[in-house]
Amino acid sequence: MHLNDELGLNTHLAHLGEDEKIKGAVVPPIFQNSLFLFDQTEDLLDCIGRMNKGLPYHYSRICNPTVELAQKKIAQLEGTDDCLLTGSGMAAITVAVMSCVKAGAHVIAVETAYKPLRTFLSDVLPRFGVTHTLVDGRCPEEVLDAIRPETTLIYLETPSSAMFRLQDLETISKVAREKGITTMIDSTYASGVLMNPHRLGVDIVVHSATKYMGGHSDLTAGAICASQERIDHMLLDGIQHFGSTLHPFSAFLLTRGLRTLTLRMKRHQETANTIAAWLEDRPEVEVVHHLGLPSFAQRDLFRRQFNGAGGLFSFEPKSQDREKVVAFCDALKLFGRGVSWGGFESLVIPLAVAPSDYAEPRWCIRLYCGIEEPQDLLRDLEAAIPLLA
Ligand SMILES: *Cc1c(COP(=O)(O)O)cnc(C)c1O
Repeated sequence: MHLNDELGLNTHLAHLGEDEKIKGAVVPPIFQNSLFLFDQTEDLLDCIGRMNKGLPYHYSRICNPTVELAQKKIAQLEGTDDCLLTGSGMAAITVAVMSCVKAGAHVIAVETAYKPLRTFLSDVLPRFGVTHTLVDGRCPEEVLDAIRPETTLIYLETPSSAMFRLQDLETISKVAREKGITTMIDSTYASGVLMNPHRLGVDIVVHSATKYMGGHSDLTAGAICASQERIDHMLLDGIQHFGSTLHPFSAFLLTRGLRTLTLRMKRHQETANTIAAWLEDRPEVEVVHHLGLPSFAQRDLFRRQFNGAGGLFSFEPKSQDREKVVAFCDALKLFGRGVSWGGFESLVIPLAVAPSDYAEPRWCIRLYCGIEEPQDLLRDLEAAIPLLA
């Protein structure tokens, strides 16, 4: 099949990179090998010297055809030149951040970004002389005011974990680019389907492909999407040294997940919109943080940047009694108690959130709507929610 730019996203996710049908197999086989052989020694030496992606392959830490297939589809999804896959989302984040800093550099990051990233900034990077400033992020002027002469990176996450706050990507990346500062975003929530940050001007897009892209809670993976120049640099300067390669079998599962990504997203979206609207009307609930609600605080920005909301959101119960919060979570039968999200199964987790505009930490209950029957999920919540009264 010949693919071109006129074909839509789902056609690309189904067929891109699969022209060659090996022995007629409709699904590409897994290249479960660490190394590749050469007929000629000169060709082997030449390949090691160039250390590039794609043919000829020589070593799976650098490039493997099964991993490369998933990389092609994700680059197409995000609209970037290329993509690098890593063994987890955090590996993608740390490889990408390390490519943008050196001793003396300063990073600006959103204060509600994924916690392990913030710990990396506060506990690891200072050992190498890299400092950072955390910002609220909702007001672009506030982000840009934090820029110093030594700032090399602005790290965004929209919406941010737990609080679901958005940043104005176009305004921030435009100014950053004028000043020669790299912008990076964790776009795991949008997963290339709900929003494409690179098209809005952001330089590097990172993902936890463990979530929606994998979609079945059976793998961990990370993705870095960027220009060819940046990807080539991160391959040689990051993956090559840190060894944070994705395993071919996980890449095979990831490709399978990508084929149904947009179908699943639609389902997550419909269910989450229904459940969030129901929660908003409940007397036990103070506020629901869900992008898909008409009452969402940054509704205008949401409509400008996104084409829909995902299956993940949170709500703050009126009662901030820890015991009641735990009892509610324990009473749920279809929402599993656990971390992560993006798979087929619904999940719940209580989180103590403490953004700088809150006088004290508050309990926030994060719900993830899987692909189960929406009515079953609603009934499960209906039975448990009186425990929050
Ligand atoms: C899960 C997650 C990560 C980390 O990804 P792993 O695959 O678990 O390493 C990063 N950012 C967000 C928003 C996540 O939800």
